[in-house]
Amino acid sequence: MEYEIVIGMEIHVELQTKSKIFCSCPTEFGQDENTHVCPICLGMPGVLPVLNEKVVEYATMAGLALNCEIAHFSKMDRKNYFYPDLPKAYQTSQFDLPICTGGLVEIEVDGVKKDIGITRIHIEEDAGKLLHESADGSLVDVNRCGVPLIEIVTEPDMRSAEEARVFAEKVRNILEYTGVSDCKMQEGSMRFDVNLSIMEKGAKEYGTRTEMKNLNSFRSLVRAVAYESKRQIIELKKGHRIIQETRKWDDTKGVSSSLRSKEEAHDYRYFPEPDLVPIVLDEAYIEAMKKALPELPEAKKTRYIEEYQLPEYDAGVLTASGVTARFFEETVALYNEPKQISNWLMVEVPPLLKELELSMEEIPLKPTQLAELLELVKDGTISGSIGKKVLSDVFKTGQNPKVIVEKEGLAQMSDTGELEGIIEEIVKNQPKSIEDIKAGNEKAYGFLTGQVMKATKGQANPQVANEIIRKVVAKYL
Ligand code: ADP
Ligand code: MG
Ligand code: ZN
Repeated sequence: MEYEIVIGMEIHVELQTKSKIFCSCPTEFGQDENTHVCPICLGMPGVLPVLNEKVVEYATMAGLALNCEIAHFSKMDRKNYFYPDLPKAYQTSQFDLPICTGGLVEIEVDGVKKDIGITRIHIEEDAGKLLHESADGSLVDVNRCGVPLIEIVTEPDMRSAEEARVFAEKVRNILEYTGVSDCKMQEGSMRFDVNLSIMEKGAKEYGTRTEMKNLNSFRSLVRAVAYESKRQIIELKKGHRIIQETRKWDDTKGVSSSLRSKEEAHDYRYFPEPDLVPIVLDEAYIEAMKKALPELPEAKKTRYIEEYQLPEYDAGVLTASGVTARFFEETVALYNEPKQISNWLMVEVPPLLKELELSMEEIPLKPTQLAELLELVKDGTISGSIGKKVLSDVFKTGQNPKVIVEKEGLAQMSDTGELEGIIEEIVKNQPKSIEDIKAGNEKAYGFLTGQVMKATKGQANPQVANEIIRKVVAKYL
């Protein structure tokens, strides 16, 4: 029997507001435990929450960027439960009337395009963090309580780990562009829950699903899908049925294990939040948000192809991250050779980042420096290969290319006198090349140029060198 994997995702995204969703505590990550709290985010009796307007703005922008309908009327609800990491004992969320519904994201895997449906996006507050650090018990840090979140729920439209990864990356890319979240997965700003079931290929009805919570890297997402789909298929082949349950993914061990089954599922007794007014958005507001949206990755890619005549591949790579796209655009504004800039950004920059273990966000190179460097290559001050060395020096020292070229004496040798001496010497020692040239083999010129470049450590201006080589060789013919 042939099996098919069915995946639907729930994605939690922390919004990049300065203050929390219902109070004025800061949302900053990485502060001392339990310092960013107040009676409201601690859920003291009698306090009154006030919805942060920026949260509505960001949720609307995220919804528009993911092609959703924005509700003119939505409301907040209480999701009641005993949460050890949420002292209110209920999470303020949205239940039956979320702010966004019915979106879609187009993905492409192996050249095949496909739409992944977005069921809904709702606004909610984050819970605190449990720290299981001591044998005496667990500790709780409530700084994260009340940090605003959106939860994006997809249709069960994905059919492989690869589709899930491409979808997740695309959503991150789009949200990063809109600026509603920093999307830092290592800081928990973006967490993926994967619902997965197995069915017979082509079946009409889905199988029973399990849910793996809080995957926080694309790598663990792919590994978790691979492991869990294999586990379910083995169970089915044994004739067992899949139990609907929440499973925990252990990224170190590379296995998932049961956390709780559906039989223990909670009845959250959702009810409308009585302390908050509904969210009413008119068409003008939604239009204004649409206008406030920056250019999104897909549109940017198309524009790069048209405006800069870049190949589709280049446009795809450059727009795959907002940071790279911004760097590219700032450099093009200073030095109008898009394809050249693209080549250097795609080929030369990544290995240097990798060597220094930096991300593109932390790149020590400035657009002004890349523009200056390419200018030096173009006007012949330095060769392309010296340019690569200079780039590496800029990464390591932060100095401007001109300063490095000056200090290290890297400018190309165009001084004919000096070059002539070197070339005379080389030609004299290569009688075989002279024989070849006499026999009509023009390739020997290339060989001699290579020797000159080697002797000058790449600093000879190739054009000048070529002219002199021909002049010197002529004396032997
Ligand atoms: P619940 O209300 O129990 O959380 P939902 O209908 O909201 O269930 O679904 C939650 C997530 O699970 C959605 O992303 C959805 O696409 C996904 N999902 C639902 N059924 C399946 C299934 N049979 N296999 C895989 N994913 C599923
Ligand atoms: Mg759900
Ligand atoms: Zn607070």
